[in-house]
Amino acid sequence: MIKEDTNARVELGTMLPLMEAFYTIQGEGFHKGTAAYFIRIGGCDVGCHWCDVKESWNALLHPPTAIEVMVEDAVKHSKTIVITGGEPLTWNMDPLTTLLKERGCKIHIETSGAYELSGIWDWICLSPKKIKLPTPEIYAVAHELKVIVFNNNDFLFAEEQASRINENCILYLQPEWSKREKMIPLIVDYVMANPKWKVSLQTHKYLNIP
Ligand code: SF4
Repeated sequence: MIKEDTNARVELGTMLPLMEAFYTIQGEGFHKGTAAYFIRIGGCDVGCHWCDVKESWNALLHPPTAIEVMVEDAVKHSKTIVITGGEPLTWNMDPLTTLLKERGCKIHIETSGAYELSGIWDWICLSPKKIKLPTPEIYAVAHELKVIVFNNNDFLFAEEQASRINENCILYLQPEWSKREKMIPLIVDYVMANPKWKVSLQTHKYLNIP
């Protein structure tokens, strides 16, 4: 396929820069403990300094892959699919999610919400980032708000984000991994004092699975 065709298909969302795909257990948030097939799409320019997948940032490092190939691989493993990144909303998610829906999949997304929402989702996990805030429309449709707590200021940011979110959204505070020993006691105290919040941990890292 010539390069122009590939670029055009990536633009349309019928090819996407695939970083990796794997069957594992969802470690975080509402669906923690659930077996799911993860599709990690390359490309993110949000730039969180503590990001644990910085190798995802440069989309050019990840091969443009036809969504048909991605879906065939996915359904061999699971009907619960988590689309993550990078920032998947960098790209048009309509074609990929339409195809997964045609195959009877439940589709979850992990997103910062920094870009226009595309795609068909059964579950939207919104993890907002201070340096590139979510677009207004995603607050109305997110199922789960997951705020990463790196320092004390993040409690204020969490409340500010919660004030924008729809009333059915489940609220999580999750320690940033490298700060977990310092922040977990603070999160525990905060959640006990403010029980609308729940604690989320990166249990996959404790389980030593991807
Ligand atoms: S939005 Fe996610 S992938 Fe992008 S820099 Fe932040 S943590 Fe990393």
